[in-house]
Amino acid sequence: MDACLAVDREVDKVLSKFGQIRENVDNVLQQLIDSLENIKCDLLSKKSEDALESNKTSVVLVKGFLDKCKKDTHKLATEHRELHSTVSKVGKAIDRNFISDFAATSREDIFSGPTKTDLVNRIICQHFYRQGMWDIADELSEESGIEVECGQREPFAKLNTIVESLKKKDICPALEWARENRSQLEIQSSSLEFKLHRLAFLTLIQKGVEHQTKAVAYARANFGQFVEKHEKEVQTLMGMLLYVPQGIEESPYSYMVETNMWTEVNELFTRDACMMLGLSVESLLNVSINAGCMALPALLNIKQVMQQRQVTGIWSGKDELPIEIDLDPEHRYHSMFACPILRQQSSDTNPPMRLICGHVISKDALHKLGNSNKLKCPYCPMEQNPSEAKLICF
Ligand SMILES: [Zn+2]
Repeated sequence: MDACLAVDREVDKVLSKFGQIRENVDNVLQQLIDSLENIKCDLLSKKSEDALESNKTSVVLVKGFLDKCKKDTHKLATEHRELHSTVSKVGKAIDRNFISDFAATSREDIFSGPTKTDLVNRIICQHFYRQGMWDIADELSEESGIEVECGQREPFAKLNTIVESLKKKDICPALEWARENRSQLEIQSSSLEFKLHRLAFLTLIQKGVEHQTKAVAYARANFGQFVEKHEKEVQTLMGMLLYVPQGIEESPYSYMVETNMWTEVNELFTRDACMMLGLSVESLLNVSINAGCMALPALLNIKQVMQQRQVTGIWSGKDELPIEIDLDPEHRYHSMFACPILRQQSSDTNPPMRLICGHVISKDALHKLGNSNKLKCPYCPMEQNPSEAKLICF
């Protein structure tokens, strides 16, 4: 952000200078045009007078004007030239504040090879389908030769139409979808259908007194099925009816009718629908780019330190980064497991194992603790057979 502000300051300087110069140029040119007009008038009016005398004064006048012209335009040209240095300062500020070579943090082989290229293309393609950019996604899949499996596009199409209609504050398609998929949503203990009805009800009572009867009818028709699970919320919603005559905004419930309720419902729909369809909630491309942007500054720093101390080999040695990157919880994947007994990070050869009591230790620890077919959990009294432990994959 500081970098952006620094560049912004330079851009502001250029803009204000441009403004000043433009004003100045307009003034100077107008002055010159005016004096030229004056000379023209003078010459015309003096035509009848003594010819020789008039010619002399005319020459002096025109000469004086030309001198002034030259001087003024020269001055303008100098000012204009000076502008270049201000413009080039913006370029320098960008160079100084931004890092141009991000490639230093990446490994060259990371995207090479047919399977990796294919994977990247798939992720980009899926992102376009998600965004509803069908033509671009189709074109990409055709040109890159990736096969879009049957049924991969359709869920996105449906999701997109519903998300778009929610953006336009049309609740019907989402409600219909939630009704159709009720049983599935219940398994996920989703409150989507209730939240949609709540939003529909709130929209009605926000319209004022004349919609009050309609709102009551809506509540009667739709809230009954949710009373068991959302009793408190239904009560609150009913309480709001009391405030309709004086305007909900004035009531203690005004927080319920904030505009961000539409955003909340939209996010909830996207999350639950993606979960149901087995899709990642966020676009994979978004996730990687966001995580990458967060990791970049730290990676650039460590790269610089490594270069200064002439450390080589660590970066490209393993299939992991040389430092822990502190990402948002929502961007944390592939959790690491450290064995509480051996105090070692799990690996392919020493993976985490879940005991039947639910405690987890590493495979090596399991072998060390378990004699023959008896193992006492190091954390609880449960005794078990080591072979009953299950491998955990993150
Ligand atoms: Zn245990």
